[in-house]
Amino acid sequence: MIDFRSDTVTRPGKEMLKAMFSAEVGDDVYGEDPTVNELEHFSAEMFGKEAGLYCPSGTQTNQIALNVHLRPGDEIIIHEESHVYKFEGGGFAKNTGASVHLLSGNRGLLKSEDILDAIKPDDVHFPRTKLVSLENTTNMGGGAIYDFEEIKKIAKVCRENNLILHLDGARLFNALVETNIDYKEFASYFNSISICLSKGLGAPVGSVLLGNKDFIHNARRVRKVFGGGMRQAGIIAAGGLYALKNNIERLKIDHQHAKALGDTLKKMSWVKEILEVETNIVILSLENQQYRDKVIEKLNEDGILLSKIGKERIRFVTHLDISPEQIEDTIQSIKGIKL
Ligand SMILES: *Cc1c(COP(=O)(O)O)cnc(C)c1O
Repeated sequence: MIDFRSDTVTRPGKEMLKAMFSAEVGDDVYGEDPTVNELEHFSAEMFGKEAGLYCPSGTQTNQIALNVHLRPGDEIIIHEESHVYKFEGGGFAKNTGASVHLLSGNRGLLKSEDILDAIKPDDVHFPRTKLVSLENTTNMGGGAIYDFEEIKKIAKVCRENNLILHLDGARLFNALVETNIDYKEFASYFNSISICLSKGLGAPVGSVLLGNKDFIHNARRVRKVFGGGMRQAGIIAAGGLYALKNNIERLKIDHQHAKALGDTLKKMSWVKEILEVETNIVILSLENQQYRDKVIEKLNEDGILLSKIGKERIRFVTHLDISPEQIEDTIQSIKGIKL
């Protein structure tokens, strides 16, 4: 099988497993797991943040961040296609009682002017606008990267209006290897950042939430309440640490693979529209649902898996477990599809 459904399907390789099997562990709820502590320090240091918190998933890091930053009734400004709004089970409402102001925007990206317009005046009728949540790269936007200048403008709007700026950085490393922006400088514009170890980096489990000491202290309490206090988690944290130390630069290979798929797909008569490939996600739309299902069926017959997203769209995600040979085979399969 050649599995393009998501970059979460990777399995730990030999070296990563070796690091996991030999991890030193302790009870992390007591703060005594040396490997978890090292992972938290290492990732915080990497982004110039004071502290980090290892969590079971990126959904949890995002949800904890909202819960620490907000009080019930506070409002989040967020993209209508974002993971935090669309794919976290309504957790912003359920866990925190937050309200949302949804914005649209090309490829999942928000604009500073739209954010400024969405801020509600201090009036008893309105929720208090309190936080802006960004996603970089954007998942439903086909792996689009924020322009750094736009992020600086958004951060300025936030500063001037007392808003907290949170980043869902599930694929932040995909953005940073392409843009060569300094990690610490980039992170300095955000109050909190969630990074995923289990997406393109290839670790089996976990995400890290980053922020200042006080924020992470509170986040640790919320993680426990959300049932995310883990014990000898060093076994899985070691995979994350290995991933951070070894698997970032190679994301460029995934991006080249995605571009190669995109270049082939662009030329197919049955492709109606394809989003320009910037990182490891390829999103394209077909004429109708029937075409979509036929393309998926034909690729499945060749052992190629991918995702349906929306009525006429399909998504390929490249990752660590896709080889150059598999990209070549997929290109041949795509070229063979006649509708
Ligand atoms: C995958 C993903 C997450 C977190 O997902 P988990 O499966 O909970 O780790 C968050 N945001 C985006 C944009 C994602 O793609």
